[in-house]
Amino acid sequence: MSSLSSVNITILGSASAQPSSTRNHSSLALRLDGDVWLFDCGEATQHQIQKSSVKMGKIQKIFITHTHGDHIFGLLPVLAGRLNGAGGTIDGVDDPRAHAPPEDVPPLEIYGPLGTRAYVRHGLTYTHTLLGAPYVVHELRLPTDPQEGDGTALAPHPYERPGRNFLQSEDGAWRDICRERLVAVSAAPILHSVPCVGYVVNELPVPGKMDPKKYIPELKRTNTPMSVMSRLQQGESVTLSDGTVLHGPARKPGRKIVILGDTYDPSPIAHLAEDACLLIHEATNAHLPGIDPNTKDSDTYEIVEERAKSRGHSTPQMAGAFAKKIRARKLVLNHFSARYPGNDDTDEEARKIMGRIRELAESTFGGEVICARDLMSFDVGPRKDA
Ligand SMILES: [Zn+2]
Ligand SMILES: [Zn+2]
Repeated sequence: MSSLSSVNITILGSASAQPSSTRNHSSLALRLDGDVWLFDCGEATQHQIQKSSVKMGKIQKIFITHTHGDHIFGLLPVLAGRLNGAGGTIDGVDDPRAHAPPEDVPPLEIYGPLGTRAYVRHGLTYTHTLLGAPYVVHELRLPTDPQEGDGTALAPHPYERPGRNFLQSEDGAWRDICRERLVAVSAAPILHSVPCVGYVVNELPVPGKMDPKKYIPELKRTNTPMSVMSRLQQGESVTLSDGTVLHGPARKPGRKIVILGDTYDPSPIAHLAEDACLLIHEATNAHLPGIDPNTKDSDTYEIVEERAKSRGHSTPQMAGAFAKKIRARKLVLNHFSARYPGNDDTDEEARKIMGRIRELAESTFGGEVICARDLMSFDVGPRKDA
């Protein structure tokens, strides 16, 4: 198989700084066939996973956008849960977790900005957490960060494997920070009140559409086994016994999913994000006169935008404008202020508020917009334009 058969996103949390009864702190699960990759891991992400159809045991990678608590406070519990962590026994002798794991166990991989590795190491060490499987933290370092080292003098946890420090390329990107058989991930900084990262998940080029009529007569004529059709389907060229060369259909671009952390201006990632099938962008604050009873009479859109930006955040219109700029096919808004309820599937008032937020983003984007709701799950289909 040389393309993904299923790509699914489950929103685990869609709140900004304050969670509410209807929104948990930031996290989403990207399911690529069987594997689960988490993006951000706010408080109680483990609980949200248990309420969803996402399987804890399938988590292979965790990407952290920035180290603000609402994006990382849930990471240690998820690690302990996923890696069979516990606090140990009194005598300690019977617990295999007290010893380092065998070398051939692949580690759970975590990616994040400077501080992610130290945060995990300190958290696990000072809570005396023993793990049953290893992990590794790779950091995306800025030019102003130390280019080497772990960012802490504390010795690694016994189950921590040495992580890489990725340095930016000339265009500011961290390219191919992970490359799997069918998918590669790149990243770039986005502007927030602290160092913050956006991730771009690229499905590798997928096989083009094949017309068997073009090939079968040639194969028959030269007595070539039909099994070469599968090589042609992969875009390979095949030389027949009489010297004729058949070329498989050219490969087409795969799906591109852009997942941003908190931002008031994500333009440094724009060149990586172009033509995204899906953009996930925060929309923390909105101006909703007549709909949101907390709206101050003195507020205008401009004042709300200025206030959002001054805190490192965006309005729905700003998210829509960025989606338009990169020609995204679809925009999902997340990271909402606690003022904006997350029960718009059942509550009329909530529907009005979230409906208006969606329209505001649509007004600058012109494409399809979805407001994230906790435990909402949707597929990302193959590119129609490919
Ligand atoms: Zn946040
Ligand atoms: Zn933040």
